[in-house]
Amino acid sequence: MANKEYEISPWKQDFPILDATIINKNPLVYLDTAASAQKPKYVLEACLKNYESEYANVHRGIHYLSEEETANFEAARIKIQKFINAKSPNEIIFTRGATEALNLIAYSFGKKYLKEGDEIIISLMEHHANIVPWQILKEEKNISIKVIPVYDDGSLNYDAFLNLLSPKTKLVSITHMSNVLGTINPVKKITTEAHNAGAKVIIDGSQAITHFPIDVSDIDCDFFAFSGHKLYAPTGIGVLYGRENILHELPPWQGGGDMIKSVTMEKSIWADPPAKFEAGTPPIVQAIGLGAAIDYLNTIGMQNLHAFEQTIFNNMYYELKNIKGLKILGNAPEKGGLVSWVMEKIHPQDISMILNQMGIAVRVGHHCAQPITERMGVSASCRASIGIYNGLNDVKKLISGIYKVKDLIK
Ligand code: PLP
Repeated sequence: MANKEYEISPWKQDFPILDATIINKNPLVYLDTAASAQKPKYVLEACLKNYESEYANVHRGIHYLSEEETANFEAARIKIQKFINAKSPNEIIFTRGATEALNLIAYSFGKKYLKEGDEIIISLMEHHANIVPWQILKEEKNISIKVIPVYDDGSLNYDAFLNLLSPKTKLVSITHMSNVLGTINPVKKITTEAHNAGAKVIIDGSQAITHFPIDVSDIDCDFFAFSGHKLYAPTGIGVLYGRENILHELPPWQGGGDMIKSVTMEKSIWADPPAKFEAGTPPIVQAIGLGAAIDYLNTIGMQNLHAFEQTIFNNMYYELKNIKGLKILGNAPEKGGLVSWVMEKIHPQDISMILNQMGIAVRVGHHCAQPITERMGVSASCRASIGIYNGLNDVKKLISGIYKVKDLIK
């Protein structure tokens, strides 16, 4: 496997921050993409250029810059539409991130369609962003939340999901890829079954979007949420994809400028989607930065990116598995992008602190997914997650770092 091309990622050079030497003059080994991806120069330059020479507010002025910036902003929407194969740019709503996208849909869908006794299905492996909004809704609407359990190996209990579906199920909201286990869920099959039961489907694509091609038309989901910052774009921008006919039916979730056709002191008439869900000045340059990140990824090709990353992931997974006294959280057959682990007699916090001294950045804690962490029998774990810039050299440093941790804490 140790092919030269895989040793150091051919795309590493595109990311200026990865030249950095950090703590103790160690070169940075960044293995925290699942929390947030680093940004390629291409995206940084696109944002800087925009602020330096193209910036104005959008959808408002008819002066030159405002019209140009509106075109740039809407062009980014079309790039996203194509990237996830949505049918229309009207199906792409800009949000602050995946969390906001999920809250938007919980609020808006919940307000219009959910009533006492209705049921929502989520899974035990959700990020808090796909748990808490439903709990807020549960308090307000007296609905129930059914939870799909997870097997010991970290795969979804699909049969249990089928058993939970009933005429009372109005929504299924599930992660495409777990941010703790790396498990990739069969979202297309889930969508078909949920639709057969008359329920709508939301996919939390926050992790999946970074690692493989996404086709919302093929999945046939009703909503798909993700954050730009995990896709090599700036923070403060996210996307909610929604099927256009459903978006027309849903009420807005915030009121203000840009989301209306007309306003009198008595009544307002909403704009059509996506504007209906984008009240106020949007994150303009962030959206343009997300468009630039997509341009960058398109030059690589998501299929190529996936093939490259799988090689690095498989190597990291294999090497970690072979370390005595190290237990991996989740060994589902469909898994990618990240590995979480714990070690006998060594606290995850200590592992992460010692790795940090060697310049190796991994995440530690419950990763904002406390229920699945506890289901795996621990309260915290370390997580190494890869991006397009990681090569086998990074895996080697991680593995030798872990052996040093073992030596230090015997
Ligand atoms: N869903 C999953 C699976 C995640 O991994 C994350 C972030 O880690 C989120 C949702 C929330 O994303 P954000 O904090 O960017 O809104």
